[in-house]
Amino acid sequence: MFKGVNASSGIGIGKAVIVEETELVIQRETVADSVAEVERFKSALEQTMQETEAMAADLAQRIGEKEAEIMNGHLMLLMDPMLTGEVETSISSEQICGEYAIEQVFTMYAGVFAAMDDELMQQRATDMLDLKTRLQKTMMGVASANIADLPAGTILVARDLTPSMTAGINPEHVTGIVTELGGKTSHSAILARALEIPAVVAVGGFLDNVKNGDEIVLDGSTGAVYVNPDASVADEYRQKREAFLKEKKELEQYIGKPTVTKDGVSVELVANIGRPEDVEKVLQYDGEGVGLFRTEFLFMDRNAMPTEEEQFEAYKTVAEMLEGKPVIIRTLDIGGDKEIPYMGLAKDENPFLGYRAIRLCLDRKEDIYRPQLRALLRASAYGKIRIMIPMVTCIDELREAKALIAEIKGELDGLGVAYDKDIQVGVMMETAAASLVADLFAKEADFFSIGTNDLTQYTMAVDRGNDKVSYLYSTFNPAVLRSIRHIIACGRAEGIMVGMCGEAASDPMMIPLLLAFGLNEFSMSASAILKSRKMITGYSMEELQAVAEKAMSFATAGEVEAYMKEFVG
Ligand code: PEP
Ligand code: MG
Repeated sequence: MFKGVNASSGIGIGKAVIVEETELVIQRETVADSVAEVERFKSALEQTMQETEAMAADLAQRIGEKEAEIMNGHLMLLMDPMLTGEVETSISSEQICGEYAIEQVFTMYAGVFAAMDDELMQQRATDMLDLKTRLQKTMMGVASANIADLPAGTILVARDLTPSMTAGINPEHVTGIVTELGGKTSHSAILARALEIPAVVAVGGFLDNVKNGDEIVLDGSTGAVYVNPDASVADEYRQKREAFLKEKKELEQYIGKPTVTKDGVSVELVANIGRPEDVEKVLQYDGEGVGLFRTEFLFMDRNAMPTEEEQFEAYKTVAEMLEGKPVIIRTLDIGGDKEIPYMGLAKDENPFLGYRAIRLCLDRKEDIYRPQLRALLRASAYGKIRIMIPMVTCIDELREAKALIAEIKGELDGLGVAYDKDIQVGVMMETAAASLVADLFAKEADFFSIGTNDLTQYTMAVDRGNDKVSYLYSTFNPAVLRSIRHIIACGRAEGIMVGMCGEAASDPMMIPLLLAFGLNEFSMSASAILKSRKMITGYSMEELQAVAEKAMSFATAGEVEAYMKEFVG
């Protein structure tokens, strides 16, 4: 078995077709007539632009506008007069052939992008190299590997897939993709997910172990790849594929359905996101909004803090994309397991108990918290934004954050800048201290969202990342369950919304308990939404009350889990 990075879920079974791009040999050749050579380049450029435009239109029609954006990005590069001007200048001033001039200019820019400490910028390097080869092939009259006409049941195997190659794939014929290079966030992986083709990328040395026609089985959820597997393995994956496809099809009927129990209790099913572009998936899976936008992702993979303006754009984009559906945006939660090098934070002896989240933000109001809150308030004019404060332990923190928000509101009023005057400010309930005084918090917060990932850690005194003590890390522990039930009861008693955005919200064995406790909102990864809706709509509150009562009578996590497992089946 080979192991790679799981880039697009699903099971792929089929015959390997190895797609190798013709290696172009680009030599420095002098040309006598550089004016004619520039013209030859311009006509190749024109042809490549037309092809790219056609690819973008095809993608927009087949998959969606967002996927087409990748090809539109290529088009923008081709239309950049600086870039193409440099190629033309090279041709004329050095009297060299167009292919070589392209090689020089595009390789140089790809190198610049590749050296940047930002994944998006690094992706630009792949785009540059993709375009370089396409332009050179057009000039040389070399045809690109023909991906559009692969036979049915193909597992496409390649060293790397360029975005333009992936865009040309016919998903009816290609049942899986395996590449030696690439990553989860590369444009080709994004396209594979959009085309819903199972894919495993970054499988080291794979091309040395596979030939055309080999039978390949791949699991795009785990990253496992088999070449000519035993009949028993192939059979097992055939069954897995059937089950995967059957469930997927079955769940589609829950798109557009309300999330309501058999006896008429409605809850909200929303999603967790890390970047504005994730909203697309939320809408695809019919999420009713966003229950947690982890803003720290905007601060990661870069060399400097995002400005207020950059943050404003990101929050506004999310609010607008959701078209009136609510989005809970959590203010910066760094420290703990999430570090941001450019912030120059000293290493904490005990990071999860240290300088993290709201503690850090209140200490660095001017350079961190104020710009973020201002961006959030300004963006609130464009949709239904709610602000959520993470890792709160005492009321003072909530009051201080609210005071700062009030101060910024005053500033915006003075400047005549629009914002949602009734914007809600909620608390992430994820520490033992906050839980114990949840009744007090419920009087001052506009909503709660329970962060079970941390609540379990802080209740059980167990580091959420430490394998040695992971046996203690269970949300089913009666201590954690009581805490959750208490938080929900306190919130409900004050009439505020209580949600949950920790992983437990989508755990099939937890959902019945959370419903019985009275949870109003469940926030989870977008892909879990339809499955959860199916579960919720299948229960009645009356039956669940009895189940919860029984579950809460056990003394150990193991007993609760065993009981819930039996109940859920
Ligand atoms: C949580 O703690 O449950 C949570 C949702 O936040 P994070 O995992 O980002 O700490
Ligand atoms: Mg947390």
